[in-house]
Amino acid sequence: MRKYFTCGGLFAILFLCSFYASYGQQHSSDDYTFTPEERPRLVVGVVVDQMRYEYLPRFWDKFGDDGFKRLINEGYLFTNHHYNYFPTYTGPGHAAVYSGTTPAVNGIVGNSWFDRNQGQSMYVVADSTVETVGAPGDAGHMSPVNLLSTTITDELKKAIAESKVIAVSIKDRGSILPGGHLANGAFWYDHDTGNFITSTWYMDELPDWVQDFNEQNLPQQLSQKTWKPLLPLQSYTESNQDDTPYEGAFGGEEAPVFPHEMNGSLSRIIGSPYGNQLVAAIAKAAVEGVELGSDDVTDFLAVSFSSTDYVGHRFGPNSIEVQDTYLRLDRQLADLLSYLDEKVGEDNYLLFLTADHAAVDVPASLVDRGLPGGYFNSDTAVGELKDYLDSIYGEGDWVISYKNQQVYLNRALIAQQDFSLKHIQQKAAQFLLQFDGVASTNTAHNFTSISYSRGLQAMYQRGFYYGRSGDVYIQLNPGWLDSSGHTGTSHGSPYSYDTHVPLIFYGWHVPHGATKKKTFIPQIAPTVTNMLQVQFPSGSRNHPLYFD
Ligand SMILES: [Zn+2]
Repeated sequence: MRKYFTCGGLFAILFLCSFYASYGQQHSSDDYTFTPEERPRLVVGVVVDQMRYEYLPRFWDKFGDDGFKRLINEGYLFTNHHYNYFPTYTGPGHAAVYSGTTPAVNGIVGNSWFDRNQGQSMYVVADSTVETVGAPGDAGHMSPVNLLSTTITDELKKAIAESKVIAVSIKDRGSILPGGHLANGAFWYDHDTGNFITSTWYMDELPDWVQDFNEQNLPQQLSQKTWKPLLPLQSYTESNQDDTPYEGAFGGEEAPVFPHEMNGSLSRIIGSPYGNQLVAAIAKAAVEGVELGSDDVTDFLAVSFSSTDYVGHRFGPNSIEVQDTYLRLDRQLADLLSYLDEKVGEDNYLLFLTADHAAVDVPASLVDRGLPGGYFNSDTAVGELKDYLDSIYGEGDWVISYKNQQVYLNRALIAQQDFSLKHIQQKAAQFLLQFDGVASTNTAHNFTSISYSRGLQAMYQRGFYYGRSGDVYIQLNPGWLDSSGHTGTSHGSPYSYDTHVPLIFYGWHVPHGATKKKTFIPQIAPTVTNMLQVQFPSGSRNHPLYFD
């Protein structure tokens, strides 16, 4: 068996030599020459939803040779790669990977936020001006309009008009944000119909290859299946027992144990490894249908695997269900790689794989072991905050929303009453410190007037955008979740269990190696755009990564 993080042998050495031969010349010569025509035929961006870095070492012995092991043993692994902002959720994660910046610049401050102009919640990719394409219903009223800076994919399209950019995912935001503003198509799953759909932002009619894919009824077939473990149950020694009190069950199940029936449900399959199977299948259909990577014009395929996140939310990071989902993803990746070898050619594509965030252990499991953790009761805290503000400022609708551990104050009412917004923010921030699980609080006033250069407050500031973020931020203690359910897990914090994710570069002009240096998510986009010799995304000010 291949060893963890060791050199892939002669092949890797040869690869390294050829890499330095082609680039070394430019470094040593006075005559720097550009060869902009030298680009990969295809770039494949893979984002795995809720993938912790520790899954690589923990599941390593059960991976096959041709999935994660191939990527790591032939590619370049960043072992200390992190998100550098709060909040660590799916929308912000995909936006940061592809825009090379943080929510403070790209504006993607959550999966949803409170829209002060409309007086209601705004979903990250919602766009009421566009229509669904590919199904009835409003699941396609989506676009990248809320994304305030460009992406890797936008810059590729700006530089090379004939370049084709396709994004696919179960989740709309996992497809739309990677595709950027200029994608030829972003497609996501509609669980009412089982169709992959899009919106009129991109096109007025589904392309033939997507229609053909939908007509195969793969989701309907998968929904007839029973999810059984890939390996014998007793061999999942890296995870908990099958039945623990920390796992949620599917509706109608008596216990969270295998086998899990899909019950003909088009929505249940996305919470199982079958959702990833579906995404891998449409990714292959895109390569074929759009002829991605078929010529010297560089194309881009963005693939986001969301089922890992749904399974993690339900069963938690130490469940057999999560491990099984990763072992299957490993096989699904192996299959996708061999498909790309055949269609695009082994040396003709550049691939990176990362995650949009990681996840905390189930807090109840931490508590039961005497470890720090718990559940923050935001209903109680925000309810008491409202009473407190009423008692000081008189009866009023002072708090208009609470989202993402942020309190949104009624700025219009405060201005109308001629109170100081800064003062009320400070009062609320001070008041909230008394609740169980609260480590610290901070205010929008501070985020707009103080420049935090390091530490956790700097991470909060990188996630703060004045027009979309709240007025008072609550930082919970490590191991704490803002939730009432005691099964399954979530994410969102600035702590390493949520920020530490894998990053692997593989393929075209990538030498074999690994680094322990701390690197950050917004460095991915400048790295890729530099390799493609196109401009950095418009909000990105970060250093590219080095394969050293
Ligand atoms: Zn999630």
